[in-house]
Amino acid sequence: MKPEVVLATHNPGKLDELQQLLAGAPFALVAYAGQGEIAEENGNTYLDNARIKARAITMATGRPALADDSGVEVDALGGLPGIHSARFVSDNPWENSREILTRLIAVPRSRRTARMRAVLCLTWPGYGEIWAEGILEGVILGWPRGHQGFGVDPIFSVDGHTALAELSRDEKNRLSHRALAARNLMTKLSSVELWGQ
Ligand code: IMP
Repeated sequence: MKPEVVLATHNPGKLDELQQLLAGAPFALVAYAGQGEIAEENGNTYLDNARIKARAITMATGRPALADDSGVEVDALGGLPGIHSARFVSDNPWENSREILTRLIAVPRSRRTARMRAVLCLTWPGYGEIWAEGILEGVILGWPRGHQGFGVDPIFSVDGHTALAELSRDEKNRLSHRALAARNLMTKLSSVELWGQ
């Protein structure tokens, strides 16, 4: 049986997605049963925030834990919203997407480049840690399209036409920044000795 790793989230959708992306990992991802806020995400980087969450669960449970942090970086906005993506102008994803579209209103297609970035951090007792990053390059569309996904999926496109929110879950999971981070994490895992096995 695979050893268990606790996912540092209360979001069942995220557990589902990461279980699918990490199906080939040498561990089984399980839900965190604790209550309340996991940790204050007050880091300056995605890695800081992922590490803060994973380490908080490892400290609380004494078990290996995994956390992710992600965001969208718009070049014409100097990389904003970045690590502030979930709470850019509010915690409503539509308001945040509308704010990005409004700020880009006079920006031509050729300068609407952006990327989504995800960092996964795995921690275990004794200060063990492995992390990995995934990046998905794309552009911000002129208006929202599609109804799938979450966050900025309706305004983010890889090919300049189709929004991520127009892709099926499986299509998005094949190319997403989180999928890439998961693959990179599995590559790193294959070359280290995990928690003394
Ligand atoms: P978190 O890492 O789940 O807190 O996500 C941070 C924010 O980044 C989200 O609220 C979205 O605005 C944005 N984001 C990160 N990943 C995605 C994605 O796959 N699709 C759409 N938006 C995303």
